[in-house]
Amino acid sequence: MDEFNGKRLVIIGLARQGKALARFAAAAGANVVVTDMRPAEKLGAAMAELSDLEIEYVLGEHPMSLLDKTDMLAISGGVPADAPLVLAARERGIRVTNDSQEFIKRAPTAVIGITGSAGKSTTTALTGVMGQMAKRRTWVGGNIGRPLIADLGKMGADDIVVQELSSFQLEVWDQSPPVAAVLNITPNHLDRHKTMAAYANAKANILRHQTERGTAVLSADDPGAMLLKSLVKGRLRLFSLDKTVKDGACVHNGQIWLRNGKDVPVCRLDEIKLRGDHNVRNVLAAVTLADTVGVPVEAMRRAIGLFTGIEHRLEWVRTLNGVQYINDSIATAPERALAAMNAFDEPLILLAGGKDKDMVWDAWAERVRERVKHVILFGELAELMEKKLAGMNLTRVETMADAVLAARETAVSGDIVLLSPGGTSFDAFTDFAERGEQFRALVQGLPD
Ligand code: ADP
Repeated sequence: MDEFNGKRLVIIGLARQGKALARFAAAAGANVVVTDMRPAEKLGAAMAELSDLEIEYVLGEHPMSLLDKTDMLAISGGVPADAPLVLAARERGIRVTNDSQEFIKRAPTAVIGITGSAGKSTTTALTGVMGQMAKRRTWVGGNIGRPLIADLGKMGADDIVVQELSSFQLEVWDQSPPVAAVLNITPNHLDRHKTMAAYANAKANILRHQTERGTAVLSADDPGAMLLKSLVKGRLRLFSLDKTVKDGACVHNGQIWLRNGKDVPVCRLDEIKLRGDHNVRNVLAAVTLADTVGVPVEAMRRAIGLFTGIEHRLEWVRTLNGVQYINDSIATAPERALAAMNAFDEPLILLAGGKDKDMVWDAWAERVRERVKHVILFGELAELMEKKLAGMNLTRVETMADAVLAARETAVSGDIVLLSPGGTSFDAFTDFAERGEQFRALVQGLPD
């Protein structure tokens, strides 16, 4: 019988994760209560989707009385772990959880969990393609898209499951997946996690509760990830671009090598379709993870040769008059925009801006000065960035349309126009995808 059976579960937030968990828990026999600050008029579609289930709704408020007789409280990614209702639940000894943790607890196969400040989606998607190339039934989800708990009933013991996990999801975990990767830990989301220590602490949950039978995969190139080494109880596997590792994946003589007691060549670096050193690291992580769950090297190699990345991540949009336009709208932190600039050798026209989340822009500004010939600034961050880049060639614009036009006017054949904003999209767009789609549409609409 499922642990949810007969329990009262309160779910905060009726979005993708909340909906998937509500459906699963109700089917498993829980008394499900969903609470959301938005009123019923705004939640019609979501409630209609769940209309076949018996669910109680408390909308427009989160009264403390919700916690009465409650066994578990589940929070969606957007809900802070220090929201008053969550703190009160902990005080009362009510278990706080979320859909991603309830999934790994029940998964019938060794789940691969992937976290990091940058590279999660790329590594998750690539590891998934490796599983598919090995002709294993493969499920890819979590932060990258569909909550995996929605497909739990269809999964089997031989399947490969790859789950992307954000620090917000991991924050409430007291469980870890059997195979866990930490790609890197750099300042990100400090607006919500307050301190770097709290952020690293949340990420550490991905391996903190592993047993001796677990495997942790860490980047040997990232000091933040390496700090977690001391927490590893089971097998420690490393990946590195610059160093040799004993167990994991590394690069030697222009080739990727898998080391697992034997030295196995996987592919040449020029077989990788993704650009940038950071993406080689993502490939190394995927190789180590896929090997851990039994994917043969031949399947990894085929996946690497096929995988051209996911949209809004250094996505090539168009070449117009010899100028390449690249959409990296996902770059919502300075480190990410830095990685993007480092991925190219060509002269760059950089489109930067967006909304700040208390980030440090000095290293970013230094790199912009070295690499970029013209900067086009937009959004709330434009003023701060302009100060940091004083003396450079720059243009300030109000809209994405003006940014694209200014880029076109400035660029000459051989240049790259790179949208890698550094800031989040919430100043002017619903999310990074909308920002990237707008850029893509505007670029595609430029006359020849
Ligand atoms: P996430 O899922 O963690 O947001 P993505 O795989 O979507 O990461 O990549 C987002 C952006 O972050 C990329 O376009 C690139 O600019 C940068 N990036 C990707 N991988 C890495 C990495 N390993 N190290 C540093 N930056 C990276």
